[in-house]
Amino acid sequence: MRIAFLGLGNMGAPMAQNLIKAGHELTVFDLVAASVDKLVKDGAKAGRDAADAVRNAEVVVTMLPSSAAVKRLYLGDGGVLAHAAAGALLIDSSTISPDVSREVATAAVAKGFAMIDAPVSGGTAGAAAGTLTFIVGGEAAALERARPLLEKMGKNVFHAGASGAGQIAKICNNMLLGIHMLGTCEAINLGTRLGLDPKVLSDVMAKSSGRNWSLELYNPWPGVMENVPASREYKGGFGTDLMLKDLGLSQEASQSAGVATPLGALTRQLYQLHSGRGYGALDFSSIVDALRAGA
Ligand code: NAD
Repeated sequence: MRIAFLGLGNMGAPMAQNLIKAGHELTVFDLVAASVDKLVKDGAKAGRDAADAVRNAEVVVTMLPSSAAVKRLYLGDGGVLAHAAAGALLIDSSTISPDVSREVATAAVAKGFAMIDAPVSGGTAGAAAGTLTFIVGGEAAALERARPLLEKMGKNVFHAGASGAGQIAKICNNMLLGIHMLGTCEAINLGTRLGLDPKVLSDVMAKSSGRNWSLELYNPWPGVMENVPASREYKGGFGTDLMLKDLGLSQEASQSAGVATPLGALTRQLYQLHSGRGYGALDFSSIVDALRAGA
């Protein structure tokens, strides 16, 4: 299948690599030329710009950092809706506002495209291993067209509901992720300050009722686990500013729906402080430093 892949960052690059490995013909584009070059070495063709990348594609996949970037790339003059081939299937895997997601999908459908929102969970390790969870919003028929490709990049595909529903599920999930990451940091920091080995404490909690994903699969304490950002000075992974963006999306949604999310609000504030201290580009588990700094 001819696929255009736009947005080759920490997540997009390994997802695109898995599509190449599965035998698909990829044309790629990113604002960062070095990211395009890397994919070209893996077998992709380089698009000169977004319009050039999508022109002959049967499917367009996007993996972008924000609602504004998605809106611009899809709706702008040089963008996807203006240049994609008639009838193409559009898959946006970025995590963005459910309202913006619906707005873009409505414009796409009005122009004869099929479009789903398909944000992912599973982190950069899941993207590399092809084990992501896709949380899809949109028409069932569009999801069935996308499914064979999603299954090359992921292991679980959920249909959350109509357009935008994938984003709603994703921002609820990430609000919970931010909260349990902070809770995990707090617990390990306390135990360590009280004299426990952070690895022993993590092993105990992972087999006890404090068990959670941040603790078991993404431990924030340096040296407890290999192959996680904490063991490589918080480089790569899921950026603090991306977590801050997602916590902002859940706060916007909770405010507009009049739903109380007090822990989500506090977590957002703490991530705002952390970003302001210069951690924006580092992995979100680096928030453990804010607690350790109090030592
Ligand atoms: P990233 O910042 O590493 O990558 C985003 C890429 O998009 C960058 O390479 C950037 O240059 C590119 N880009 C921006 N505007 C563009 C445009 N107009 N045309 C082409 N390329 C453009 O971010 P990431 O970590 O890969 O995350 C991407 C999305 O996936 C975000 O919405 C994030 O919230 C979500 N997400 C990330 C993770 C994670 O663990 N990193 C996990 C799940 C979901």
